[in-house]
Amino acid sequence: FFGNEKKYLNDCIDSTFVSSVGTYVDRFEKEFATRVGSKYAIATVNGTAALHTALLLAGVAHHDEVLTQSVSFVATPNAITYCGAQPIFLDSDKSTLGLSPTALESFLIDNCHIKKDGYTYNLKTGRKISACVPVHIFGHPARIDQINKICNRFNITLVEDAAEALGSYYNGKHAGRFGKLGILSFNGNKIITTGGGGMILTDDDSLAKQAKHITTTAKKEHGWEYFHDQTGYNYRMPNINAALGCAQMENIHKILINKRNLASSYNVFFKSLNIPFVEEPEYCVSNYWLNAIITSNKKERDGLLTYSNKHKVMMRPLWTLLHRLPMYNSCQTDSLKNARWLEQRIVNIPSSVTQ
Ligand SMILES: *Cc1c(COP(=O)(O)O)cnc(C)c1O
Repeated sequence: FFGNEKKYLNDCIDSTFVSSVGTYVDRFEKEFATRVGSKYAIATVNGTAALHTALLLAGVAHHDEVLTQSVSFVATPNAITYCGAQPIFLDSDKSTLGLSPTALESFLIDNCHIKKDGYTYNLKTGRKISACVPVHIFGHPARIDQINKICNRFNITLVEDAAEALGSYYNGKHAGRFGKLGILSFNGNKIITTGGGGMILTDDDSLAKQAKHITTTAKKEHGWEYFHDQTGYNYRMPNINAALGCAQMENIHKILINKRNLASSYNVFFKSLNIPFVEEPEYCVSNYWLNAIITSNKKERDGLLTYSNKHKVMMRPLWTLLHRLPMYNSCQTDSLKNARWLEQRIVNIPSSVTQ
């Protein structure tokens, strides 16, 4: 924190508007939308709630299936599960770590068919594939243009999990702006933080209205009446969190420059040792949220993790692949060849913004 955080928090307390009413939420949403170039931005209590809401608005229904990647944080399949849908875990690109367009296309061609109603169905389960959620891992943009094209061909709604990708661009366009809806997170470990928080991005007028509506208990606007027209959610971001967000946004350029400077030092260092450092993909600007190197094999990875953690430098492996977690181990997958390769080798190295 190096800006107006304390000032804005004091202002919330002095005004008593710390909770579901107050001007910081509107301000944070407007400034955020402008920053990323989205028509609308809707603030939520956290990124998981944002993804849950985005999937509901994408039309993901009970018993549907949603395509995503095995390399991600558990929040991605959790949000799919909250909709009553099943995740299908596909492979990642070795270079971007994000969903592999080749894996996506092969899965759809080999395992699915388009029915007369125009939607894509899984041949094995007979279930509708209603959405696809690629993830921009560690802030590195996935091959989102190609993924988008494939989704369009199969009439599958693209929802981007850009939780880690604030300040990342693919071909000059901000991550999270390629799908019908995209989401970001402001958890304490992300590029900016609101304590807890998330954002839904969309350019669609109607979806933006619905997003606001169902994240605020589906209450009809009225001076005094309490009327709710559907089962909504209490997913609105409190004013006190948005106040933090407004202060953080004032310094986001500094945070992003700091991140890129650190990554570029790492890049030079690891090049000199001939150790692969995960770099921003072609045509992309990455925020380098979480820096990573690729060790030669699992043995080398474990040696490094043991050594560094013993010496109080926290390094960590990739998340356990999602299809291996107990609640997801019966979900359909493809070969996950690259995902397994990456799981054995990736090590995340210290990535904090320093002053
Ligand atoms: C952080 C994160 C989320 C969830 O965000 P929260 O704000 O922690 O709920 C979702 N997906 C990915 C890939 C994340 O890294």
